[in-house]
Amino acid sequence: MKRLMTTLTVLATGVFLMTLSLSAQAQFESADLILTNARVIDGTGAVYDRAVIAITGERIQSITSGEKQFNAGRTIDAKGKTVLPGLMNMHIHFGPRDATNEETVTEYLKRLPAGLYAYLSYGVTTIKSPGDMAETYIKVRERLARGEIQGPRLFLTGPPLTALGGYPAVVRYRDNPWLRAQRSIELTSEREARTAVRQLSELGVDAIKFIYIGSTDPEKPYVGRYGVAIRKLTPQIMKAIIDESHKHQLRVTVHTSHLEDAMAVIEAGADGLEHGVHERLLDDRLGTLMRERKASYVPTLYQLYTGTGETYPSRLAANKANVKQLAEEGVRIVLGTDSSPFSDGDGFATIRELEIYVRDVGLTPMQAIQAATRNAAEHLGKLDELGTLEAGKLADLIMVNGDPLKDIMSLYNVELVIKGGKIVVDKRQGTE
Ligand SMILES: [Zn+2]
Repeated sequence: MKRLMTTLTVLATGVFLMTLSLSAQAQFESADLILTNARVIDGTGAVYDRAVIAITGERIQSITSGEKQFNAGRTIDAKGKTVLPGLMNMHIHFGPRDATNEETVTEYLKRLPAGLYAYLSYGVTTIKSPGDMAETYIKVRERLARGEIQGPRLFLTGPPLTALGGYPAVVRYRDNPWLRAQRSIELTSEREARTAVRQLSELGVDAIKFIYIGSTDPEKPYVGRYGVAIRKLTPQIMKAIIDESHKHQLRVTVHTSHLEDAMAVIEAGADGLEHGVHERLLDDRLGTLMRERKASYVPTLYQLYTGTGETYPSRLAANKANVKQLAEEGVRIVLGTDSSPFSDGDGFATIRELEIYVRDVGLTPMQAIQAATRNAAEHLGKLDELGTLEAGKLADLIMVNGDPLKDIMSLYNVELVIKGGKIVVDKRQGTE
């Protein structure tokens, strides 16, 4: 009898254990890659500790606080690290700025993969060029998308639209007619404006950019700091560009310098300002208008600090104060640097811009990070895919050593970069 009881107990225990292991197995979820023990700044404004980020294919599968168990192809322990969305720089330019013919461009393109990879190595997984040759860089965008070259996701506007005799045509390319025709589209009528937008749309640009500085009055030329008269688009042409762009579902950003020009283009429906306003904002008119219109403000402070070797102390002071003011007024601030892959060691410039926002402008680290993540994705119209770490979105994320909310400088310590679910940069010291 005793023997039978023991047998039954053994059998029962066996069944019980089997049931337990089956139910435990049922709780295991498959994933290609998980990051465990992560401190996460997800881009929405939320922060959580010891999260588990599961990635399958190119997307984020889930972010949980450890209640799920995973059967993962690969596990990375993110203890002591911070994970955040891949950084997005919404104002860069390719080159070459001194190209004189196709051959010089071809030579430049040979070096470009190294420049593109440099973005990734600093954790920059998305970039936008508001002003470069159209076809050339659409081809680069296609090569990136096919994985032939490694680099960030690329968004493009093609050449900026401007007035005949406008910036940058008569300033940068005055003595270089070949490049002038490649890197600016000079317009004299509304019809030309609509045609140009339609052609850029057909080529496959992601947005439109135009320049709105200078003078429409030949009797009262605008010279600015360039030493040459700069013509400005008429308000009618400016409005035609915005209208035609929106008809093609393209957002429009505008290079401006002065408050009244900025007010005029946002009033007319433009979606963002590049570089911002270089004179101190003395009231909340621009902030109120931009907030109401949900327009983006893309300060490019990095370039004012270092880029061209020139210094603009008064402009810099006004720009910094304006960024702070507009952020307080609820305007979407979006990170841009106006830098180039080779002249500025890009990628680096993106982190430097974040550092400037926190240390010199006075944004909080969270505000700065959102300018380079969530806000940038919203600016592109891609918040459904990019900019925050949420289930279902593309798995573009970075892991840094330390906590950028405590010290923004820790963003320089990027250890791991994942783009579209793939590890594209791994600087960790063999600990896995
Ligand atoms: Zn620029």
